[in-house]
Amino acid sequence: MRFVSTRNPAHRATLSEAIARGIAPDGGLYVPESLPRIDARSLGGASLMNTARRVLAPFFAGDRLEADLEGIAEEAFSIHAPVTAVDAQHEVLELFHGPTAAFKDFGARTLAACLERLEEGDELPLTILVATSGDTGGAVAAAFHRRPHVEVVVLYPRGRVSPRQEQQLTCWGENVRTLSVQGTFDDCQRMVKEAFAHAALSSRHRFSSANSINIGRLLPQIVYYAAASVDVQERTGQVASFIVPSGNLGNAMACIWARDLGLPIGQIVLAHNDNRTVPDYFASGNWQPRPSVATLASAMDVGNPSNMERLRAHHADIGRMRSSLATASVDDAAIRSRIRADYKAYGRIWCPHTAVAAETYERLPEERRRAERWVLVATAHPAKFSEIVEPLVGRAVPVPRALAALFELPRRVTEIDATLLSLAQALEEPPVLPCSTH
Ligand SMILES: *Cc1c(COP(=O)(O)O)cnc(C)c1O
Repeated sequence: MRFVSTRNPAHRATLSEAIARGIAPDGGLYVPESLPRIDARSLGGASLMNTARRVLAPFFAGDRLEADLEGIAEEAFSIHAPVTAVDAQHEVLELFHGPTAAFKDFGARTLAACLERLEEGDELPLTILVATSGDTGGAVAAAFHRRPHVEVVVLYPRGRVSPRQEQQLTCWGENVRTLSVQGTFDDCQRMVKEAFAHAALSSRHRFSSANSINIGRLLPQIVYYAAASVDVQERTGQVASFIVPSGNLGNAMACIWARDLGLPIGQIVLAHNDNRTVPDYFASGNWQPRPSVATLASAMDVGNPSNMERLRAHHADIGRMRSSLATASVDDAAIRSRIRADYKAYGRIWCPHTAVAAETYERLPEERRRAERWVLVATAHPAKFSEIVEPLVGRAVPVPRALAALFELPRRVTEIDATLLSLAQALEEPPVLPCSTH
């Protein structure tokens, strides 16, 4: 299997090259040159790990990582992703059972397992720079922590992430360095871009990126849609339709690929918060990216979704896109009322992102809710957003054990100014030892 750039199908790369580069040399994003067909029946009854081996095999075929796929799947897919019933008509795909309790754990762990193997033998470790507004940094730090040949540097805006998010970003140490930046998320992103562009710094530290445009994070997300759709079909005889809480559209792209591989998937609905760029595009046909607005579902606060380039390359025109996908937009008031209502009705507590999917489901016409088998995609555990969720449901949200373990660890963080010079200086400091709490 080869991967091509969305901007030039003549530019081809192997899986390893696409993973190591992140972005194609022409600025495009890597997509599979062609999609294989997967026989859904061959996945019946398989564990998530075995589903990963089978679904990812064609994408790894012919690559230097091919022989490592067994081990990569074993490491990255030791997490459960069960489909549980909400009521007789709809179910939920729970993607929050990983170490940082969000779906990004699957992609980050697969990418880390691949990069560790690709880097073996290199003298100078790779330095992954991540600017984060909350969730991504934690998932990437957890995935790379204690892996050889790779160091991670996380930048987050001081005072602008939730207390629990901050704990998840700062509890690592060793090969993970966390920098609390006196500035905004945009400052953090700018500093990362400046560091990449600085030739001397960049070659000295061998910078690399782990953001969601990397194909190594997207392919593994196909796996849980494959497993869930086969599970739903075996239990109910029906084809699963997914409602995907969306921001940069990486999770949605993986669901589309899963359907194109021949898995039993019906409708796919892209459920957005008040950042309406995608729903407005479907309505008007005009692509108008804009600055993001802050919402309760903050991991979806994206005004210019990076994976739209893959979606547009995949569909010949807006007409095709409209017939293949649907969109929705849910504001903060509706997120709040949906969290309250579904706790009352079903005893289920949603995180604000999952609540966007739950509200989108409730807005479907009754006959469509009855006729099709709907699966909400739960992208994070509500305990990560306790300050929003607990007042709405009037009770404490139990914290999953993996997450609680992170809350016990001491913080290891360095405070820096929002300048490239401060970042460069922090990179020169020796790695933070486990006992240090400065
Ligand atoms: C990142 C994230 C999303 C959005 O996913 P995309 O792949 O960027 O569309 C939704 N929910 C949560 C909890 C996230 O962390």
